[in-house]
Amino acid sequence: DYALYNSKTTSRGRTTVYSAEHEARIRSERAIENALQNADLAKEFEIYFQPVISLPEREVVGFEALARWDSPVLNRVPPDRFIPIAERTGMIHRLTVHLFERAVEQINGLPGSLSLSFNLSAHDVTSAETVAALLDIIRLKKIDPRRIMFEITETSVIGSYEAAETCLKTLRAAGVKLALDDFGTGYSSLGYLHRLPIDCVKIDRSFVSGIADPVAIGVVNSIVNLCRSMQILCVVEGVEKPDQLEVLEALQCHLVQGFLFGRPQPYETVAASALEAGTVDGLSLSNGSING
Ligand code: C2E
Ligand code: MG
Ligand code: MG
Ligand code: MG
Repeated sequence: DYALYNSKTTSRGRTTVYSAEHEARIRSERAIENALQNADLAKEFEIYFQPVISLPEREVVGFEALARWDSPVLNRVPPDRFIPIAERTGMIHRLTVHLFERAVEQINGLPGSLSLSFNLSAHDVTSAETVAALLDIIRLKKIDPRRIMFEITETSVIGSYEAAETCLKTLRAAGVKLALDDFGTGYSSLGYLHRLPIDCVKIDRSFVSGIADPVAIGVVNSIVNLCRSMQILCVVEGVEKPDQLEVLEALQCHLVQGFLFGRPQPYETVAASALEAGTVDGLSLSNGSING
């Protein structure tokens, strides 16, 4: 039968392509793994800061810390690539602790009302050892824990729910805030929102890129209202265009983040403009906390 024949050739063709791609991927993962193993964390890693903006004020209330790795062998490797490999190879604990310590030192150099959002990986949120190390840093660096928001994803919690719940409760008991990142992309189970001690939801940027679509608007609107009724914060990620902002303002979103306001940038850039001009990307700094 013709259709069957056709699909067989296609699938045979695909199999060949797939295994070449697969091999290339394995090679590149090994290269990342090796480079990571030999990396000088202090020299090769840097934290970029992206502003979080409050509406309708359009003020900077804090920053999300985003890791940047410039490997001398591989050049810049994006965090989406190296974080999963660091997790798989057991290097994530050392990396997370190093990055968080650096991020806290840096945010400590900025006005005290600004918050720091820091991403945790799946391993981080299930490791009592990592949690203890993070809390030690908060104590040693004398930062007000209320300025810290740890970002986690549903997918990182799902695998070992019990361990994650214990870790998250420990963090929260120490006074830090917790955000559910990339909301809307995974299971987005209301059960998680309800059962986990969450202070904030970050709506994934895929909803904003499609915000001309009434369905996307409806989804964002529902999540914003849900957050309001649960009295938790809500950040809409990935705002790139003025017309997207207009829609979000009409929905009364309280917090936004995206290239329209500011790209992630090195600490020196953010600090210079925050301390010298009292602005970041032309926006003034909020005097209040992220809670508004
Ligand atoms: P995320 O936490 O969801 O971070 C948001 C990502 O969206 C960042 O990518 C940011 O640069 C990008 N972004 C922000 N605004 C816009 C926009 O308007 N348009 C577009 N197209 N993109 C925007 P980045 O820095 O490449 O980070 C990717 C992911 O890697 C992060 O997603 C986070 O899950 C992870 N990551 C980054 N730094 C760390 C870290 O220090 N530790 C851990 N565990 N994960 C990290
Ligand atoms: Mg994040
Ligand atoms: Mg996100
Ligand atoms: Mg993410």
